[in-house]
Amino acid sequence: MAERVGFIGLGHMGRPMARNLLAAGFPLTVHNRSQGPVEELAAAGAAPARSPMEVAQVSDIVITMLPDSPDVEAVVTGPNGVAEGLRPGAVVIDMSTILPAVSRRLAEALEVRGGHWLDAPVSGGPQGAAAATLSIMVGGREEDFARGRPVFEALGKTVVHVGPAGAGSTAKLCNQVACVLNLLGVAEALVLAEKAGLDPNRLFQAIRAGSAGSWMMENQAPKMIARDFAPGFFVRLQQKDLRLVLATAEECGAPLPGAALVNQIFRILEADGKGELGTQAIFLAIEKLAGLDPSPPQR
Ligand code: NAD
Repeated sequence: MAERVGFIGLGHMGRPMARNLLAAGFPLTVHNRSQGPVEELAAAGAAPARSPMEVAQVSDIVITMLPDSPDVEAVVTGPNGVAEGLRPGAVVIDMSTILPAVSRRLAEALEVRGGHWLDAPVSGGPQGAAAATLSIMVGGREEDFARGRPVFEALGKTVVHVGPAGAGSTAKLCNQVACVLNLLGVAEALVLAEKAGLDPNRLFQAIRAGSAGSWMMENQAPKMIARDFAPGFFVRLQQKDLRLVLATAEECGAPLPGAALVNQIFRILEADGKGELGTQAIFLAIEKLAGLDPSPPQR
């Protein structure tokens, strides 16, 4: 018998993920702050619930996919939260990107109530969520990971147990560091080309299959060249993740000069009213530093 799954947070990521769980045959109960997505999922076969507590009362596995650390804390341990309705032995799987310290704290809070915790943030965006091809990095106990595996396999393609509680959240932050520095590299290469009088398209064709090639170059360079700065992944959300990265680096004493620099460059964009553009808009900031006069961004 498939375990009964609860899903809280039906946004850009959560909505397609919840649909994939239904498609995989899991009995599903859903909750969200606004009602629209709940009604949509209910029409597709999920049971609606009025609070996180209600979700937990009827679920063996409760998934949260919420914006940030305070949201997850409020939903899990706040009033009418998951912990208040937790069934003995139930597993809470948080798939949001949050502070590892908060993941560890919530793991302990659930343990004293007889529950279990996995932090399992994802990479792949709404496209990966819809296609069930997310990369999922999981922190928590081995036996809880084994229980969560069928759920993870319905949502993603790469599923790796990286360590104890908090390790999944930490792995996601490491992922973000590699992403933003790769993005900056692509933007700087294109601005150098522009400044030196090269055709950026020809440059892209010349280097994409060589050692500079990457997912970031394949997906973001064409957008930078076309001056398509629509999100994708919002500058504003990337900044949220970088705040978590820098706070965690501070806590464990890791110097991250590159990530700190990208955080500041994105701040230039935010101060310029461009926080709602996609992260490829980093190109605009570098272009500006180079004294190039960009045409107005298309949205
Ligand atoms: P979103 O803002 O689209 O969705 C969040 C949902 O949570 C919304 O539907 C909101 O109504 C709901 N919500 C917020 N507070 C709530 C509460 N107290 N109770 C019930 N529902 C509540 O965010 P998203 O883009 O789906 O991202 C979710 C998480 O996944 C974030 O941590 C984000 O960093 C991470 N993530 C996002 C992407 C992406 O490309 N969007 C990619 C990877 C990871």
